[in-house]
Amino acid sequence: MKRLLVTLCVLLCVFAMAACGGAETSYPDIPVTFEPDCPIMAELMSDTPLRSVADAFHDALSALENGDRVLVFLLDGWGWEKFQYHRDMQPFLSSLNPEPALTVYPPITPVALATVVTGVQPDVHGIHSRADRRMNYGVTDIFAEAARLGRTVAYIQGHSGIIQTSLLPILSPDADGLYGSDNEIFENARRHLDADFLFVHFHGIDDMGHTYGPYAEEVGVRMALIDECIQYLVENWGYGTVIITADHGMRRIYGNPYRLGDHGNICHEDMIVPYIITQRGSSNE
Ligand SMILES: [Zn+2]
Ligand SMILES: [Zn+2]
Repeated sequence: MKRLLVTLCVLLCVFAMAACGGAETSYPDIPVTFEPDCPIMAELMSDTPLRSVADAFHDALSALENGDRVLVFLLDGWGWEKFQYHRDMQPFLSSLNPEPALTVYPPITPVALATVVTGVQPDVHGIHSRADRRMNYGVTDIFAEAARLGRTVAYIQGHSGIIQTSLLPILSPDADGLYGSDNEIFENARRHLDADFLFVHFHGIDDMGHTYGPYAEEVGVRMALIDECIQYLVENWGYGTVIITADHGMRRIYGNPYRLGDHGNICHEDMIVPYIITQRGSSNE
């Protein structure tokens, strides 16, 4: 019966195509921009990593459930290719052997941040654009899960929370005009190294990349600073699981001398980011 139905459908399609004069299928008129510097779907699909940024939620939760402490770094705009290009400027992060991971579409901060803290895709958490701040009802985040397990939690952000989470972030606006908010984020993180679960979102790699382009020396210099900050925080963290990843990558753009890097396309540079998970010390030491 099923085979008969399939055969009928095929015959109907053949007749319909013949009646329309063959291949005159009409598609909606959607403009597609092919940027020469941004290889699109084919390259992305041929090199899709096994890891996803959603793993950060699941890895953190499973470590917390096992009684471990967890330190998460989200490095805004720390793309896989950007990391590889500036690898020598990040000796500590490089020594932790990052793996490539796929982020979510569109690869922009609120959408990916929501996936990192909930472990679910945008169609479930409901954040699809920079205008969305409130996640769908019933979606839990890693801060609520850590609190449910009775663990102490601190969430360090830059100048704003970006999306609504179950725990209000500790904000770190730029107070001195130096290094954007990165030095303030570092100071706030340093003050909360005793938390069982600490989540730290650095922004400078993205900010510098937008201004100078992802492969500029200025970006490498900021990466070196953040690499040192992370090394200090990890070495002073004591024992626990450390997870380091990014919300999205970045590609070089042309046409605006004040904005040389951007992200938001479904291409390799925007969609693939590094992912690190490592164990530091033990509770018996
Ligand atoms: Zn971002
Ligand atoms: Zn950005």
